[in-house]
Amino acid sequence: MGHDSVSEISPMKHCNLCGRAVAANAYRVFQRKHKPDGKGLTICAECQQNKPRCLVCQTPMTAQHLRAGICRECLREGLKCKLCGKKIAGDFLLLNGNDGPYCAHCFQKFAPCDICSAPAGDDGVTLADGRVLCARCHQTAIADPREANELFAQVIATLDHSLGMRLNLQPQLMLVDHARLVELARTTTSENGHDAERVLGLFARQGRKRFIYLQEHLPRILLIQVVAHEFAHAWQGEQAPLLTDNLVREGFAEWVAYKMLQELGAQKKAAQMLQRQDVYGQGLRDMLQVERQRSIMGVLQSLRAKQIGAIVQS
Ligand SMILES: [Zn+2]
Ligand SMILES: [Zn+2]
Ligand SMILES: [Zn+2]
Ligand SMILES: [Zn+2]
Ligand SMILES: [Zn+2]
Repeated sequence: MGHDSVSEISPMKHCNLCGRAVAANAYRVFQRKHKPDGKGLTICAECQQNKPRCLVCQTPMTAQHLRAGICRECLREGLKCKLCGKKIAGDFLLLNGNDGPYCAHCFQKFAPCDICSAPAGDDGVTLADGRVLCARCHQTAIADPREANELFAQVIATLDHSLGMRLNLQPQLMLVDHARLVELARTTTSENGHDAERVLGLFARQGRKRFIYLQEHLPRILLIQVVAHEFAHAWQGEQAPLLTDNLVREGFAEWVAYKMLQELGAQKKAAQMLQRQDVYGQGLRDMLQVERQRSIMGVLQSLRAKQIGAIVQS
């Protein structure tokens, strides 16, 4: 044992899931609902990343401690509808893998939110273009271009700092309405494999200029996620322009957005990205596999070298 160990000063903590000793700033304590003053669960950084989470309270758990994805404590307390707050006796729904639960009654009664699909509720908001947003999505929705640009600057700074990604030509950010974005998506080919109706953002080159188009009224975290994804496409355009494999292109863009969400501590949204069963989810899982084998620098380097297809397939 080295003599510079922290354990000489304070008692060493251990991760409650994997049992490993954890350094002073490499764990987080998850409070439990039934014991708000209790010790909580000490969970190491690695388990926070890799262990499944209770779909309701989002606490990381070992698989044995989850039943149908829900922890014992949440089951013991009984499930409550996230919208109406009533106890759920019968069927319930979890959206995007981990949002909810919502009771069947609320689901039948209210229109779905255009962004998150949750029942919009009595305080849902109808936008000028007829789309309905739930109160939660509407609360942080960004309609002001200046605000969007501030978040864009934050994404640029974070990706530079955490991934070392920089652009030579900075795209201009444009907020557009849903109809305009659908039209742009139909006339550009950058996002193949994606339904133009469902597109939320787009990177486009027009002459010497670069643009990132975003649907207006995106909730803050989603805007950051979409901007990071489109930033990655801009980076690909500069650093790996010959890359055509759609799974790698979208997988890399999702990986960049996923890293951005993790930097923000948005674990729940990050987990939703991992669960997608399309080219985006598959591509992201592949890219995380490359990162585990070759580190963050390895992901960027292999993308530049266009070798990544071969790595993913092996
Ligand atoms: Zn652990
Ligand atoms: Zn739980
Ligand atoms: Zn309900
Ligand atoms: Zn919503
Ligand atoms: Zn994309």
